[in-house]
Amino acid sequence: MVTAVSEHDLWLQILKKVEGELKPAHFLTWFKDTAILSFKDGLLVIGVPNVYAKQWLEDKLSTQLVQAIKSINPDVHEVMYEIDPNLALPEDNRAMDLVKVFAKSKKPRKLPGKQEVKLVEGISSKCLNPKYRLENYIVGPDNRLAHAACTSVANSPGSLYNPLFIYGGVGLGKTHLLQSIGNAILSHNPNKVVAYMTSERFTNEIVEAIRKRNSKQFKDRYRRVDCLIIDDVQFLANKDRTQEEFFHTFNDLYDNNKQIIISSDRPPKELNQLEDRLVSRFEMGMIVDVQFPDYETRLAILHSKCREHEVLIHPEVLEFIAMNVHHSVRELEGVFIQAIAQAQLEHSTPTVRSVAKIIKKLGCQSDKMQGYDAYAAAPQSVRSSEDVIDIVAAHFRISSNDMMGTSRKRHLIVPRQLAMYLIRNEIGLAYEQIGEEFGGKNHTTVMHACEKIDQKLKKDKQLLKDVNAIKKEMGL
Ligand code: ADP
Ligand code: MG
Repeated sequence: MVTAVSEHDLWLQILKKVEGELKPAHFLTWFKDTAILSFKDGLLVIGVPNVYAKQWLEDKLSTQLVQAIKSINPDVHEVMYEIDPNLALPEDNRAMDLVKVFAKSKKPRKLPGKQEVKLVEGISSKCLNPKYRLENYIVGPDNRLAHAACTSVANSPGSLYNPLFIYGGVGLGKTHLLQSIGNAILSHNPNKVVAYMTSERFTNEIVEAIRKRNSKQFKDRYRRVDCLIIDDVQFLANKDRTQEEFFHTFNDLYDNNKQIIISSDRPPKELNQLEDRLVSRFEMGMIVDVQFPDYETRLAILHSKCREHEVLIHPEVLEFIAMNVHHSVRELEGVFIQAIAQAQLEHSTPTVRSVAKIIKKLGCQSDKMQGYDAYAAAPQSVRSSEDVIDIVAAHFRISSNDMMGTSRKRHLIVPRQLAMYLIRNEIGLAYEQIGEEFGGKNHTTVMHACEKIDQKLKKDKQLLKDVNAIKKEMGL
């Protein structure tokens, strides 16, 4: 077993190597919040924050990653991926820091530095993720009040809405709002001390303080913050000692007009396993809820994600995602991220069909997919190689006969090869059959054409555009 320091260093070296081989957006998407969880007897376990990252690394990047790892440490014989949701927590953002450091040198514009926070010595949770801002939180009827309350608290902490209590289901934006307030308070006044932490983290710190017999120090530290943010307070259930500490900290901060912000998966009244006196404190201020956003808001969130990631996606595809993801905004984002990453790797653009597959694979839809027939059934009509040939010829404004002929003129060769490629990949005809369709050409000629197009698509942007346009014509 190697020590934590060398695991960290090893991961740093690996990331450095992989970063050079990937597009910055891919690198950020898939290696954010990752870390080495363990390395023992040649087995390296890589922790990833969610199922999307796991699937992606396993399916698409495994070979590349294993090669990179082995070139750095030949003792690694096997690599495994394990989901560890804690990695996504802001205070545990190990790989995010690394990823940012690398990516920054290439694209500083896209990567704001981590919010500088004045620290009270000993408070270990000091990280607010700068990506969470009130400005990029999309407001709709179901979260308008919550957003307004957060804005008010951000502008004048410790005054009107204290404590601020936000509740709602998983993946609906509570953490986003909580951290946004912290970021906003700090951007207005960098000298303020903001402590953000999950209730688990808070509990751990208390346990640690008790173990080290320095509860007094713990108390003093927490009472010096200007804004205390506790995320997912429901996890304090049945932790009596933590609740007691929290109660006293709460009172102290409250009496000194310091801001307290709390989130939970349910309203205070339903926090049955929390002490009554704590619940009644939560009820003293402002209580707001966030709910699953309506269709229009979901669509607006997707549009804003497109701007954030600088990608263009056909409106129909966005509408389809918005219509068919029914549980949380986190899922909505998950489908979106997977769709763009897949499209980028495959040099294509997301289509209704491709996102439908992703939604199915991730199990996000509640029932039968809505609108799938309307969006995706029409293209089924493009089923024959003749259709493909006609569409390709029309796209390049040449006649089908010329394209199918034997002329070696450049303006005919590429469309001819492209038609073969699309018939092979989209209609699934065998090389021999395609050869026959093209006037009895040898199957090796067809194979060669397909390989040629594959190669070209990797560097020829214009050809990529042509393919995308033609695929769209074909309804793909
Ligand atoms: P929760 O803490 O309620 O489980 P999060 O705050 O982690 O949920 O939200 C999940 C993801 O969805 C985050 O990436 C967040 O930025 C995003 N999100 C949620 N609601 C919105 C919204 N209204 N606008 C933009 N992004 C949102
Ligand atoms: Mg959360």
